[in-house]
Amino acid sequence: MRALSRLALRLLLLSLLPTAAAAQGPTSVLHVRPGDGQLELQVEMRQLSDTEDWYLSGGEVAEMLQAGRFWRSDVRKLVLRVRGQRLTFTVGARSVVGASRTILLHQPVLFHGGQPWIPLEFLTQILPELTDIAVRYDPEDQRLRIGERPTNVQALRIESTAEATELRLDLGEVLAFRVDDSRVRHLVVKIYGGVLDPSRIALSRPRGLVDAVTSRQEEGFALVDVQLGELAQRYSSSAEAEGRRILLRIEPLPVTTIPEPQPRGPHLVQTLPPQARSRRVDVRKVVIDPGHGGVDVGATGRADVREKDITLAVARELARILRERDDIAAVLTRADDSSLGLVERTEYANREGADLFVSLHCNAWFDPAAQGVETYFLSPAKSEWDADVARKENIAAGHSDDLDFILWDLVQNAYIQESATLAEAVQAGLVEDTGLRDRGVKQAGFRVLVGAFMPAILVEMGFISNSDDARALTDRKQQRRIARALADAIVDFRARMDAIREGSR
Ligand SMILES: [Zn+2]
Repeated sequence: MRALSRLALRLLLLSLLPTAAAAQGPTSVLHVRPGDGQLELQVEMRQLSDTEDWYLSGGEVAEMLQAGRFWRSDVRKLVLRVRGQRLTFTVGARSVVGASRTILLHQPVLFHGGQPWIPLEFLTQILPELTDIAVRYDPEDQRLRIGERPTNVQALRIESTAEATELRLDLGEVLAFRVDDSRVRHLVVKIYGGVLDPSRIALSRPRGLVDAVTSRQEEGFALVDVQLGELAQRYSSSAEAEGRRILLRIEPLPVTTIPEPQPRGPHLVQTLPPQARSRRVDVRKVVIDPGHGGVDVGATGRADVREKDITLAVARELARILRERDDIAAVLTRADDSSLGLVERTEYANREGADLFVSLHCNAWFDPAAQGVETYFLSPAKSEWDADVARKENIAAGHSDDLDFILWDLVQNAYIQESATLAEAVQAGLVEDTGLRDRGVKQAGFRVLVGAFMPAILVEMGFISNSDDARALTDRKQQRRIARALADAIVDFRARMDAIREGSR
């Protein structure tokens, strides 16, 4: 009996111990509906202080707001980029610093379990004040509804004449897009950052050379599927109204001559097969940019894993493969552990007359669970003002976390469609060949329209703050595999560009 009760006590203690160590205060669940038709999320909340205020982890808050995030462990600051606005939290402080003003929380941001925790009050009270995001909170049910995102793919218009059927998509802001024509008699327009209402972007009855249009919302982009009639033979796509409108021009046979389309916005005109004509992107020379270097070590991970070493190792390997296997001239912005300014990197690429610019980086994040590959291409400036703010913020931050993004200030976006195509090829290839987790193709946050004159991407090859990724990134075999996947993607991209050029002859 005594032995039994002692055992029972031990079991009880064992079951209590881990919880007591990990939990620190009661937990509860917040039901979040993030808007734009997404599924409800269940998010854990905790009471971390003596008060009854609920806290959420910085990671969860970023996730539910689809916010970009930077964690500066040296000063314990978390920066969330919510819809283009930068909100800064500091562990131990009550302030939330926004672009236009600072608002105080009733409780400070806390540090727990390796990451910052933000009072729930931020979501229910402060977020709607600092941003245009509508929030409704029901404390009874602990339900939080984040307002619908306004659509930015707003209208579909189709005009048809004897020469052509023109389909236009009106955008509420400058968005990058690309047209996929790989399915027979379909043109699928992928709009990065596009938000649409599928019931509005639709056509159920044939009009000219278009049989039907359907659309759908995906995470991070919108898809518009244009089904073509049998007489449709060729098409061109371009941006109008300074990037605020997408034009698809579809033409029947017989063809006389199509006038060379004129670029009318930040996007240049691109025409794809069948019988395409296009701009000349000829991949003969690639500039590979190993991120960071010298005193700028970049992100650091476990056991002295340094970003600058990994980027250099992969860059060297990639250059070797491209030269030897694929006969593509490859030059590095830095061939050793030297410091190099960001301006010098793109200037160097311009001077070399490179056809592609590939910048290699590694990610780091305070949550060691974060892992995987992401590929960025640059996006057009929403406005000069936006770009200016981003630049100032970058300089003020003065931290290597943000340096990756300054880079894109220097790159212009005339090659945005090619960059998007390249980014997708690289991302798909890396995920398939290396088994690293797929975090998707993304657009860089900050941008201005001057600088490099070639398609450009930035690859975050994995998180050195994650033990699996760090192991892969420091392993020579894996580095080689990553380099091979990158080379394959570049070669695929070249083949595609060649095909377009062939078609235009
Ligand atoms: Zn970096």
